[in-house]
Amino acid sequence: MINLVLLGPPGAGKGTQAKRLEQKYGLVQLSTGDMLRAAVASGSALGQQAKKVMEAGQLMPDDIIVGMIAERIDQPDTRNGIILDGFPRTTAQAKALDHMLAERGLGLDLVIEIRVDDSALVERISGRFACAKCGAGYHDFNQRPKVEGQCDRCGVTEFVRRKDDNPATVRARLRAYHDQTAPILPYYADKGILRTVDGMADIETVASQIETLIKEVTSPLTGGLPSL
Ligand code: AMP
Repeated sequence: MINLVLLGPPGAGKGTQAKRLEQKYGLVQLSTGDMLRAAVASGSALGQQAKKVMEAGQLMPDDIIVGMIAERIDQPDTRNGIILDGFPRTTAQAKALDHMLAERGLGLDLVIEIRVDDSALVERISGRFACAKCGAGYHDFNQRPKVEGQCDRCGVTEFVRRKDDNPATVRARLRAYHDQTAPILPYYADKGILRTVDGMADIETVASQIETLIKEVTSPLTGGLPSL
């Protein structure tokens, strides 16, 4: 069992890497962004609030997000461990997460920062799209489906683009990352569980850097990350 957080700005590749880890290690990806998009699609009151906040590139209130994660963590498919993607995004959320895990006799094993230059992100995000059915991610330039117009994973021919993936909203999301999310990094560094990978590298290289870190944590010899 391993519980890990993928931290990084929008477009760093958290979702892409989380999906690979799900398949490889039987972990489950908990993406607060995906949960909020599902709420928007359902048209619920929460969804209506989330729609406005997301389109402005701002953050949802901590208590709502923490409540969503607490409910999700209690479902049985999380027993092999979780990959948190897009959560925590504020120091208050990070502290609430520690508390929530401790109450369940659990803890975080590893926090991986995927570091990418801001200048690369607007272009990366502006080109991305996903399968409408299974959510597999693609990009206009870097990662087109193998058969044009057809999802590699499930064969569906419908794709979606996120409404908040436009340059103006991306800039607001980047500001939110630097102002509210990046300050979490020292919180985890102090606990000795923060590691950084170079997110400017290609998808395979980033994946193998992440796997090396996971092996360090799960190795019976080290039994966890040595503190820095
Ligand atoms: P993401 O898919 O992770 O890029 O999230 C999309 C948007 O959902 C963000 O820009 C926020 O508006 C909102 N959101 C997702 N996760 C959180 C979170 N942990 N805290 C606050 N807002 C969030």
